[in-house]
Amino acid sequence: ANVLIENDKRVDKDRIRMKDKSDHATTENVLDSRIKKKLHKLFERGVLAEINGCISTGKEANVYYAKSKNQDEIAIKIYRTSILTFKNREKYIRGEYRFDHVYSLHNPRKMVKIWAEKEFSNLKRLEQGGIRAPRPLLYGGHMLLMEFLGSDGWASPKLKDAILTESKSRMLYRECIEIMWKMYNKCRLVHADLSEYNILYHNGSVVVIDVSQAVDRDHCNAIEFLRNDCSNITAFFKKHNVGVMSLQALFDFITD
Ligand code: ADP
Ligand code: MN
Repeated sequence: ANVLIENDKRVDKDRIRMKDKSDHATTENVLDSRIKKKLHKLFERGVLAEINGCISTGKEANVYYAKSKNQDEIAIKIYRTSILTFKNREKYIRGEYRFDHVYSLHNPRKMVKIWAEKEFSNLKRLEQGGIRAPRPLLYGGHMLLMEFLGSDGWASPKLKDAILTESKSRMLYRECIEIMWKMYNKCRLVHADLSEYNILYHNGSVVVIDVSQAVDRDHCNAIEFLRNDCSNITAFFKKHNVGVMSLQALFDFITD
């Protein structure tokens, strides 16, 4: 039996039910036939050796735990194709030169493909900018494979769930500021959904995740998104008794 499955007591109709060696992934609902085919190919190519349970079922994506043939741990993110999530995403795609041309309001499946591609390319930018984030491995259809962050099959906690001393909180606050500065100035990106929910506490440091909606600095709403990110981070560390900078000072520091 698998710790990940036993640990997650939530009942979710979309969860993956594992694991059957003869039929690599036995799934319900979320894995449509195209994704199943894609996964099958990855097993055939030896990219994947096993999928071992569900790390997270969210509104917009599910994340699964897998291993490669040489036992590397992998996180597989599979984006939902529902119309609702697709509409939520519009404002992050529109208005940015990288993806505006491929935007297709009438084709959710194409749209979701862009989503995986966008997260992959954003993770690449983070990697090039030297920002701690999962290393992107590959994407295809509406799924993305990346480095798993955790130990012994246990995913690292979200920042919101980490147990922190005050001095540790101060340190992580500084790390978050540095990440936002580097993202903006080195990677030319604004996360656009940065908060204690999309930062993992991994090996004593913060690691950024969930960058599918991150936009280029040139995006028409980039500044609004950045203000919101600054505000989330400030509020979180204020709650943890860190002597934070004013919102304006933080914003100016990043954009100056
Ligand atoms: P969404 O919020 O759209 O569902 P996320 O990318 O935030 O998608 O992933 C959902 C959750 O899955 C995260 O909060 C985290 O707990 C877990 N997760 C995501 N990526 C990884 C990873 N590379 N390693 C370990 N856990 C991950
Ligand atoms: Mn998230």
